[in-house]
Amino acid sequence: MHVLITGGAGFIGSNLVRYHLNQGHKVHVVDDLSTGRKENIQPFLHDPNFHFDKGDVLTWSGLERAVSGADVIYHLAAVVGVFKVLKQPIEVLAINIAGCERLLRAARNSHWRPRVIVASSSEVYGNRPIVDGRHLPLHEELELLITPGINTRWNYSISKLANEAFAISYAKEHDMHVTAVRFFNVCGPGQTGRYGMVVPRFVSQAVNNEPITVFGDGSQTRSFMDVRDTVKALFALASTEDSAGEIVNVGSDSEITILDLAELVRKLADSESPIHHLDYEDVYGEGFDEIAYRRPALQKLQRLTGFKSRYALVDTINHLIALSKAEKEVDGDVSLVRSRA
Ligand code: UDP
Repeated sequence: MHVLITGGAGFIGSNLVRYHLNQGHKVHVVDDLSTGRKENIQPFLHDPNFHFDKGDVLTWSGLERAVSGADVIYHLAAVVGVFKVLKQPIEVLAINIAGCERLLRAARNSHWRPRVIVASSSEVYGNRPIVDGRHLPLHEELELLITPGINTRWNYSISKLANEAFAISYAKEHDMHVTAVRFFNVCGPGQTGRYGMVVPRFVSQAVNNEPITVFGDGSQTRSFMDVRDTVKALFALASTEDSAGEIVNVGSDSEITILDLAELVRKLADSESPIHHLDYEDVYGEGFDEIAYRRPALQKLQRLTGFKSRYALVDTINHLIALSKAEKEVDGDVSLVRSRA
């Protein structure tokens, strides 16, 4: 099987690479290394089943050729991460929308009729009100709410909604096997906290005994899925006939407040880090719209694939803490050698 992954040097992408190489598949990655990192794919560079091209999906001249040989395509290349989205609101719209359309057009022209998974996001659900202290899991049929106004935070959601619309339209108009997946918060090995992602930030802060930075009062909730589960769910979706033309949530449904997450990470890391609350405005600028809660309904994913997550959040955090501590020891040894030299 030939697999093409756009954005394959990113966090989810590089975990998908590992998964497919372990299955004996051939994997081709295209990534412009803007948020993706070479270190993420370094372990695969000498694998004969792995091929990497540095390129941007919008302009890369090899795209049609790469698409024409693929059985499964994961389109993950996008501008991502809250910090980056707020800094580059135009790129978010332009790159995310046009890149997806170019990819789907190439897939339509391919004689292999690849199965295509297009990355969307739980951000499309927007910020939903909590009614009588209750909130319900977000299911795929809900009407979507995007706060009107000039807040460029929503550009990412808008770009992902456009991607979904392209995915569904190509599936319908050209009878293609395209599935849009709404990712909920994913965490695990290989994720960087540089663009805002909370779990690697808290783990690094706790391991280094630095203050753990909780934005706002920490009552906002998220549901975290281990990336090693995510990649299995994605391939399961690509492998079933019934996912063609569908929009499907991919995530975990165990929900936690961000303050509880900070306390959990601190406890598991056996850390002395204080917890510091920071105002949203100081972190993101004026008028930032925080999403109060987020938990996926997973019935559709389960119906289509029978998929169930294997890793609990505690397992993932323990694994990340162990990796971070091991990395710290290596860094310590290197600086010791340097200072002796
Ligand atoms: N967050 C936090 N401290 C950090 C980074 C993030 O409290 O150092 C919060 C953030 O405000 C949000 C949650 O953690 O409520 C998840 O943030 P992330 O950027 O990982 O994902 P998203 O906001 O897209 O769900």
